Amino acid sequence: MPMTTAEKLFESIAVLPIMDTHEHVPLRQQNRELPCDVLTEFLSHYFDKDLLSAGMPRNILDHARNPELPIADRFRALSPWWDLCRHTGYGRSLDLSARGVYGIEKITGDTIEELNARFQAGVENPHHYRHVLKDLCHIDRSIVDCPGYRLRADDYDAQLFLLVKRLDPYLSRFGQVNDMVAYTGIEISDFDSFLAAVTRDIQNFRENGYVGFKLGVAYERPLHFARVEKAVARELFSGALKAIQTGQPYQAPLALQDYILHHCLSVISTLDTFIQVHTGYQEGNGNMVAHSDPLLLNNLFLEYPQIQFDLFHIGYPYVAQVGVLAKLFANVSVDFAWANIISPTAAENALCEYLDLVPRNKILAFGGDYLFVDGIYGHQLMARRMVSRALARKVDGGQMDEDEALATAKLLLHDNALNRLGLSL
Ligand SMILES: [Zn+2]
Repeated sequence: MPMTTAEKLFESIAVLPIMDTHEHVPLRQQNRELPCDVLTEFLSHYFDKDLLSAGMPRNILDHARNPELPIADRFRALSPWWDLCRHTGYGRSLDLSARGVYGIEKITGDTIEELNARFQAGVENPHHYRHVLKDLCHIDRSIVDCPGYRLRADDYDAQLFLLVKRLDPYLSRFGQVNDMVAYTGIEISDFDSFLAAVTRDIQNFRENGYVGFKLGVAYERPLHFARVEKAVARELFSGALKAIQTGQPYQAPLALQDYILHHCLSVISTLDTFIQVHTGYQEGNGNMVAHSDPLLLNNLFLEYPQIQFDLFHIGYPYVAQVGVLAKLFANVSVDFAWANIISPTAAENALCEYLDLVPRNKILAFGGDYLFVDGIYGHQLMARRMVSRALARKVDGGQMDEDEALATAKLLLHDNALNRLGLSL
């Protein structure tokens, strides 16, 4: 049987170097949660949510994640649900990782013990990260959304990772405020000193090698950030100040968050950098999906033309909305982080739609978005296949030839991330 266009393109696309726009992996493999085994890691996010969505009782998940118990028993208890979810994007990604990283064809009750033995050998191997990310995935760099406050260059392998700083802790809860005071040397006694500390802190991160910023608050609030009078925000800050001084848990009112976010963006707009924004579907088993509508961000793109906004997750299910924003604004790009495993079919259709709609230098086709390194393997393979299939549709439709398709793949999987985000390696 002759090769399809997608298969032909995939032969070249399979080995292209990739820029990975988004990960959550611990920066050092020694920092992974221990003790661990293949089930505790593979069920640390994403696929476990599909299992619960399918109706699996929570106690079976807790049992499955206990590395002290025999793995065959734990797998047996959840295998009916695993089989129901195996063909979702999350499920397929894990099977591909088991095959590509460990040489196990499929995760089943018959293979789980051997898979775990090979996984444990990886845990012992100090070069496992490099092996997966460089040798298997051909990833140039992965941009990590890093939870730690500040990292020195020797805290991680700069040949593997670039870092972005989350803005979320500046807006509410203020969980990193003590670090901020320590690193900026600015005591917080009122609203103005708080804003001065935030300014200095953001500048510090940028000066210390962080390549950009990330906003993940669509998990807990709508993405519309109104313009709020400073006097109103100052008044609201009195509650925050009390919480900061006493260390009490605190959730800032939306108007205060809005003011602080605009303050952060006014600082970032002077730093020649980008912000990655979570839009669309939220990981988990319950949330307000409409909070994540990317159209709610519209005013920010108008107000901060100096900032490059990289809209994550193709806004799924708001795929067309993200496309329209990326077309309308020179400072907005569309990013497939996470999207290929949410739905490979939706991602393929979205790429075809975006190639019609958006200049091809503004589409970033891969961000693994995994907490554990093995997951990145399955996801990058799905992304390469997705790009091959979508471009094959363009070739077969007579809209581009194979050379143009391969040149486009290189932009989507590598060059656009460097150029749009202003990265130099
Ligand atoms: Zn993420």
